Amino acid sequence: MISVQQAKQLLSEHCERGQQMKVSLQDSLGAILAAAVFSPIDVPGFDNSAMDGYALALDGKENEWQIGEVIQAGDTSDISLKEWQAARIFTGARIPEGADTVIPQELVELNQEEKTVCYEGDRIQKGSNVRLKGSQCRKGDLLLEPGTKITPGVIGLLASVGVGEVRIFAPPAVACIITGNELKEVGEQIREGEIYNSNGPMLEACLRQTGIGKIEVLRATDEKEKLQELVNTALENNEVLLLSGGISVGDYDFVKECLETAGVQEIFYKIKQRPGKPFFAGKKQGKWIFALPGNPASVYSCFIQYVRPTLKYLMGHEQVWEPEEVLELKEDVKKKAGFTFFMKARREDGKVRVLGGQQSFNLLSFNEADCMVELGEEAEIVTKGTRVKVYHLSH
Ligand code: AMP
Ligand code: MG
Repeated sequence: MISVQQAKQLLSEHCERGQQMKVSLQDSLGAILAAAVFSPIDVPGFDNSAMDGYALALDGKENEWQIGEVIQAGDTSDISLKEWQAARIFTGARIPEGADTVIPQELVELNQEEKTVCYEGDRIQKGSNVRLKGSQCRKGDLLLEPGTKITPGVIGLLASVGVGEVRIFAPPAVACIITGNELKEVGEQIREGEIYNSNGPMLEACLRQTGIGKIEVLRATDEKEKLQELVNTALENNEVLLLSGGISVGDYDFVKECLETAGVQEIFYKIKQRPGKPFFAGKKQGKWIFALPGNPASVYSCFIQYVRPTLKYLMGHEQVWEPEEVLELKEDVKKKAGFTFFMKARREDGKVRVLGGQQSFNLLSFNEADCMVELGEEAEIVTKGTRVKVYHLSH
């Protein structure tokens, strides 16, 4: 059996970036840019007003101007001011030829006919309240480096320069095969001896949260031939295959055998960890196969520790193997020596508290868990104040 560190090392050695594709801005949220983006235009594309007010040429001596034109945001006509003329102007509107400054309307007084702008005081300098052409960026400027995560702000930036498509690392198509004769779907009747399939919905949600859109969730009974058929077709049609259950040593655990028959090359099987000891990782022709133990807490734990980082690497993310934080334990925690423990936990007051109900079948503490902590292999008691690795459940 290998250690958690060895398992992560082996996976990282087998990791490669996935395919790239072009997507519209609408479909790019959360993805990683695969190519740099340069601005195709100047932004702003023209000098424009930062305020509602009056555009004029400020020379520091005069303080009265005749109001001429009215310029609204979106006006495209070429307007020029004569000497001592001011234009009524609104935020975002083009600064007319001959003007260099905008005086906000709160600072001016109009004469009785509302034809003259009077302005007193020195609160405004030449150039005030004018957003200059190209002051965000110039045509040809590097806006975004490859590797940038696409956030709503990045989408805004891209739209502001008129870019509607970006090249990203493509999320892989993922199939999940959920094994177990005892399983019923939510909405079905269950009898004693049967349980609801919680791994299916949970894994699908884990994948969605990781940015995967193409997900196929399939159900298999514990019959070797049927499972084999499902494994073969799922592998043909997807880049990643996840399985739940059937990977342990029981008489009806056929997953490992079926994967071998399908030509999957084992990277490792079994890790010195709790929960999730009988975890399998393998590859076939660049495709990833992970078989997760059936207990729901094991599934979640193995997903966070091994599957999520692998998928994220494929999708262009950096530093996927690092915990998000290292925090002090709030209370002592007892564990068995010889296994790395992953425990449901909650961050509180800058520290982390391990929750109750850590058995691998028990999902109740997910009602307040927001992270998992890693407790080292050797320790039997990890004392309050020890700094531990913390993996966030939300991303
Ligand atoms: P297995 O590894 O198939 O022996 O499953 C281990 C434990 O996990 C058993 O108690 C199963 O009933 C349970 N289990 C397996 N699959 C699921 C599932 N999809 N949802 C909830 N529990 C499951
Ligand atoms: Mg089973």
